[in-house]
Amino acid sequence: MASLIELNNVRRTYQVGGEAVHALDGVDLTINEGDFVAIVGTSGSGKSTLMHMLGLMDRPDSGQMRFEGNDVTKLRAAAQATLRARKLGFIFQAFNLLPRLTVTENVLLPVTYARDGPGDAKERVVSTLDRVGLAHRAKHRPSQMSGGERQRVAIARALINRPRLILADEPTGNLDTQNVERILTLFKELNAEGQTIVLVTHDLDVAATAKRQIKMADGKIVSSDEASD
Ligand code: ADP
Ligand code: MG
Repeated sequence: MASLIELNNVRRTYQVGGEAVHALDGVDLTINEGDFVAIVGTSGSGKSTLMHMLGLMDRPDSGQMRFEGNDVTKLRAAAQATLRARKLGFIFQAFNLLPRLTVTENVLLPVTYARDGPGDAKERVVSTLDRVGLAHRAKHRPSQMSGGERQRVAIARALINRPRLILADEPTGNLDTQNVERILTLFKELNAEGQTIVLVTHDLDVAATAKRQIKMADGKIVSSDEASD
């Protein structure tokens, strides 16, 4: 399968009190279309920094990064934002829904950001909410829903622009066991339908759900299964 993202010898260093912290210390990573990757590693190992790279929210200090074959190493913030809005979907531990908006309005937000996203946005909201099992909750507000339901709204929001890649940072961290199962089943189904997914987790059972596990330590990838092909 075609490679979606390629990182070559990517470094990201923070200066903290005159000292260099190597958050990413020469990372090589290829993520292919159709991959389902779990990133694991202890706190401070560089997982979030890597996710920010993959999510085009940061740039390498050195090394190279490609997205859909194009060099994005030095992409400016505005161009990053456009790519992000059109090509990526984000899911967070704390759901990050806007409380005053309805489910439908929350799911529609990325359509607004992407401007020229695929047409028929209203129809897509209906079909996407249906896909995550929440068609009956379209007019609810986040406060009227359970944590598992809120995360499924967030997944619908991440899916609405038909992203090339879904990035999820501890997506099950705030959920009870039953809802963890439900969300993981949804991820597996979406991946089986061709959706590329990268998630960060400290839960090894969650990581085992993915097709591929990447372990980080001290800013380096210390073990990685091969990209699927
Ligand atoms: P993880 O997500 O695995 O816990 P991070 O990617 O957040 O790890 O952090 C990797 C290292 O980089 C840590 O040592 C952390 O303290 C440092 N770091 C991350 N972000 C910053 C920042 N904005 N400024 C300074 N140091 C940072
Ligand atoms: Mg982190």
